[in-house]
Amino acid sequence: MEDIAKNLKSVRERIASAALRAGRDPGSVTLIAVSKTKPVEMIEAAMAAGQTVFGENRVQELRDKYDALGGRAVFHQIGGLQKNKVKYLIGRAALIESVDSRELAAEISRLSQKNGVTTDILIQVNIGRELQKSGVDPDEAENLVRFCSETPAVRVRGLMAIPPKCENPEDARPYFKEMYSLFLDIKSKNIDNIYMDILSMGMTNDFEVAVEEGSTAVRVGTAIFGKRDYMI
Ligand SMILES: *Cc1c(COP(=O)(O)O)cnc(C)c1O
Repeated sequence: MEDIAKNLKSVRERIASAALRAGRDPGSVTLIAVSKTKPVEMIEAAMAAGQTVFGENRVQELRDKYDALGGRAVFHQIGGLQKNKVKYLIGRAALIESVDSRELAAEISRLSQKNGVTTDILIQVNIGRELQKSGVDPDEAENLVRFCSETPAVRVRGLMAIPPKCENPEDARPYFKEMYSLFLDIKSKNIDNIYMDILSMGMTNDFEVAVEEGSTAVRVGTAIFGKRDYMI
């Protein structure tokens, strides 16, 4: 059994050290504990250790866990998302991190309006320009942000990326740098209704490099909850 409290403490310390190395305030980085495939009991153990934000990449799993916890935990949807599943997220996902098309943004808008809420989203960027990966092309990110700025009931809070798989976390650094400059570039345009206060990048294998390069939200699963039983 994983010692979740101990793992969380260690991850938080590593985030703080990476932030300090880069001359950043450790408090400027949010830790999203990625609980996908793990039981509600493990989420409760993390909550007892002070963790409040969790990431899930399967919509029904997020819904079931959110409901099981009576809304006490904050969940982010972090994985690829089909339009027909958005309905389960409205009012449950505090942030939908993986919006990569106008159609998806429009569907989130439609259902948010219907439910009288505004939904916070991130635009997922395919920073490695990989064929099979979700996310918009970096050159298209600003266009999608501008589309969302005119779409009611969705609020763009920033960008999210998963760089190409790298054996050595140092190899991910150029992708994080490119994301940070794209983030600053879009932020500097002060587009209406666009906040650009969240840059979500960094996972178990590379979160320290991501923090050094300007990440404000790291999504860490394995280092907190242990290995997952199946690939997801
Ligand atoms: C699973 C997942 C993570 C966490 O991965 P770890 O390597 O276990 O930290 C982060 N982001 C996304 C989008 C994921 O699907």
